[in-house]
Amino acid sequence: MDALRQKWLDTVIQWRLHPDAPANDRYWAPELDACSRERLKDIQNEKLAVLIPYLLAYSPFYRNKFRQAKLTAQDIRSVDELYKIPPTTKMEMVADVAANPPWGTYLAIDDQIWKERGWMVFATSGTTAAPRVFRHTTHDMHQWAWNDARGLWAMGIRPGRDIAMIAFGYAPHVFLWGVHYAFNLMGVPVIPGGSMDIARRLMFLTTFRPTVLCATPSYAFYLGNKMLEMGQQPQESAITTLVVGGEPGASVPATKQRLESLWGARVFEFYGCTEVAPTPGGYMCEVGATAEPYGPHFMEDQHIVELIDPETFEPVPEGQRGLSVATNLFSEAAPLLRFVIGDFGQFTTAPCACGRTHVRAPGGFKGRADDLLNIRGVTVFPLAIEEVVRGMDTLGDEFAVIISNETGLDELTVQVEAHEALATSERQGVEDELGRRLRAVIEIRPRIEIVPPGTIPRPEFKASRVRDQRREL
Ligand SMILES: [Zn+2]
Repeated sequence: MDALRQKWLDTVIQWRLHPDAPANDRYWAPELDACSRERLKDIQNEKLAVLIPYLLAYSPFYRNKFRQAKLTAQDIRSVDELYKIPPTTKMEMVADVAANPPWGTYLAIDDQIWKERGWMVFATSGTTAAPRVFRHTTHDMHQWAWNDARGLWAMGIRPGRDIAMIAFGYAPHVFLWGVHYAFNLMGVPVIPGGSMDIARRLMFLTTFRPTVLCATPSYAFYLGNKMLEMGQQPQESAITTLVVGGEPGASVPATKQRLESLWGARVFEFYGCTEVAPTPGGYMCEVGATAEPYGPHFMEDQHIVELIDPETFEPVPEGQRGLSVATNLFSEAAPLLRFVIGDFGQFTTAPCACGRTHVRAPGGFKGRADDLLNIRGVTVFPLAIEEVVRGMDTLGDEFAVIISNETGLDELTVQVEAHEALATSERQGVEDELGRRLRAVIEIRPRIEIVPPGTIPRPEFKASRVRDQRREL
């Protein structure tokens, strides 16, 4: 291995403290999890100083990006100068893949390294463009496992007590593989719940009694409601902890509370994306998961996170809303610089009662900027609709948002399943109430359709609850 690559890997590994087991019951790595913010910045600077020459040597995409911005490695001497690097966007990466199929040139590994030390390939789930793919190495595997283990430790998951079931199709998705390898590292047994139908998943869940369920929020609802239909009580299962990811459900308080009461379990979230692999870019600690506003910490010795203004791409001051951007400080394959994840949120560095000093996003992330809907000139976040719908106990868990334009005027329809216990005679009153509440939040009067329980199709992985028929024309 050549010297520059070796130096980057050594720098990263040197900061993987307590690589095989946690230091104590409270923190996996107290020297990192609870260190001062000045110390965190020193660690970031130490890593950046090696990362930038490394990336410029091995990634043509970043060489080109620096050349276009008239930057050299010497221009970025610390985190304070990171803003000089133009953010990396999905569209740039899509163009890179189109010009350099099938892998693109944004990664810092080539075919030879992939063949010698490759671990696994991951892909984005977008349906419109060619998938952006990420080939990771065994170095990355160890880093993922350790990162996620630190997050799961903060959630209170422990070997000797917990058994995890991962209810995902075993697809190239970062969340499930991240937690899978983390459980292996922690010594928490795993029941892989991929490639089985729901009846078999439920049989595994009730027979082998896992205590931790990892799923998307949508699938956790699906599974819990299916149990109820079959006359079983999710609350009587052994599940005490839900670890959800892949969609923003757990930072929507009404959704989180519904999941908690459905399962009689605590709900924690991992936040991240494929590009700055992997989760936990963000993870909820026991404080962030129990006190509103719910929200994740970020692991700042492993990622530099920023929020930027959506128009100017300039960093916003602490406490102001902005789009999430992350720089990866540990990967051999994908240490991307300033990747625009693109979720709206806000940050605080105020101390957390858990003792972790890393930045938090109180209130979590309420959707990607790409998900914003423009209806008759009014901007609507689908998650605002979710918050209202899930906040009414006369309604079921599933809903759909349909935007049409048959008459030349945008029309918003919110279709919601009635709660099992809702009598037909009460339906009109509930429709009126939902219309009023939505109007107050989204400033548009939607058409409301309350449909019988079980009518709306359940998504297994990522819920797609918005149907914009204007785009289908
Ligand atoms: Zn905390």
